[in-house]
Amino acid sequence: MRDETIAAIATSLGEGGIGIVRISGDEALNILEKIFDYFNKDLKNKTVDKSVDKLDNLSKDSMSRKAEIQANKLIYGHIYDNFTGELIDEVMAVYMKGPHSYTAEDVVEIQCHGSIVSLKKILSLVLKNGARLAENGEFTKRAFLNGRLDLSQAEAVIDLIRAKSDRTFTVALGQLEGKLSKKIKDIRGKLVDILVNITVNIDYPDEDIEEITYDKLLKDLEAVKFSIDSLRESFQTGRILKEGLRVSIIGKPNVGKSSLMNALLKEERAIVTDIPGTTRDTIEESLSVRGIPIIITDTAGIRETDDVIEKIGIEKSKEAFNSADLIIFILDNSKTLEEADFDIIEKIQGRNALVLVNKTDLERVIDLKEIEKRLPKAEILEVAISKEVGIKELEEKIEALVYGCKVKAGEGLMVTNVRHKEILDLAGEAVADSLVMVQSGEALEFLEIDVNRAYELLGSIVGETVEGDIIDQVFARFCLGK
Ligand code: GDP
Repeated sequence: MRDETIAAIATSLGEGGIGIVRISGDEALNILEKIFDYFNKDLKNKTVDKSVDKLDNLSKDSMSRKAEIQANKLIYGHIYDNFTGELIDEVMAVYMKGPHSYTAEDVVEIQCHGSIVSLKKILSLVLKNGARLAENGEFTKRAFLNGRLDLSQAEAVIDLIRAKSDRTFTVALGQLEGKLSKKIKDIRGKLVDILVNITVNIDYPDEDIEEITYDKLLKDLEAVKFSIDSLRESFQTGRILKEGLRVSIIGKPNVGKSSLMNALLKEERAIVTDIPGTTRDTIEESLSVRGIPIIITDTAGIRETDDVIEKIGIEKSKEAFNSADLIIFILDNSKTLEEADFDIIEKIQGRNALVLVNKTDLERVIDLKEIEKRLPKAEILEVAISKEVGIKELEEKIEALVYGCKVKAGEGLMVTNVRHKEILDLAGEAVADSLVMVQSGEALEFLEIDVNRAYELLGSIVGETVEGDIIDQVFARFCLGK
């Protein structure tokens, strides 16, 4: 129900300087007034006795204070339990009057100390005073239902929150700002022009209107197809930017795998997360190279073993290896190639691989020609990891691989959302079908159906022509309080 007032803790439930309880709906201001005792210019000289008779103070003053809470002003004060009189926390509160708020409804945000205790107490007090606990993503859903954001913009909000690298963030921000929406609107605009043209020619064939030619139709539909296909193609890069490039490092013991992980991690310590598995053999790290999120796995030893724990590790290594977007194969410049290297070379045949010949500060013993012969498609990069030689080049290679030497995030528009990609695929098919009909000179009535289908499909990206259950699914992915 949209007319209910909802509330939730909007900040994450860890330790923090401040935490925020957010309220949205018609009752938001009323609820705040019931529980908030704030500094009031007109009552400056009156000391509010906080130890005795707080309830009385609150009720006495609340009427005179009612008009005082101005929109968009951060107000200092205290939250009291209006049932028991207990002081709950010292806070700052802000009231944003709809439609000039996140949800386009009246919104109140109470900034308290970032303690779970305070946040929970304030939330439960707000609920006791008539609000209902918000569902996941319900604030953003209301922003969508109230027309402040379209569906693709609302979806960008969750991507922004989850972004782990600056490029991912930039792409999501572009989507929130309406970049994708505008593009979809443009394409739909072109489809409307085509539809109008077709309809007029069907309905008024004898009138004095410009007769539609199949040549023009072909040109217009091809332009639309091109736009849709460009968006579809951006998805590969978009997916990597969103989910991360899966990189698997492989090589014999002692070639420099850990050194490489450390060298890459050194660049971007901030977003590193260790995933301490049960394993001794796989270490997975999330890092960011030139703004590209990367999930990197050191597949230390994919080998046969009877040790149970080690087996689990090796299974994980294999999984990581099998699902990797890129394999970095490290060799030791100062050693001859041996059976274990050839085994790995066999394993990475046909995969997207980058060969690092490490320890180039030491005398060359390795046979580079043999590697080129056995891995003709792989790129070979000579490095000395512990001497920090070649790391920049490696990062450049990774970057080039992700962007395929094409647009960079932030510069170009990118589709990152699977739902959007699936719709674009279907819309692309509909336009392709209509193109076939134009080419074979089918009647306009048949064409109209496919063009219309493409128009409707694209509308569901921005939420114009979308079923309620899809909307529910989209917002169910959100966290609470957003
Ligand atoms: P891993 O077993 O493959 O993870 O290999 P490590 O990263 O532990 O490296 C093994 C040894 O090689 C360590 O002593 C590193 O300091 C050394 N090492 C790594 N890179 C280089 C390099 O470029 N030159 C030289 N000379 N030694 C290196």
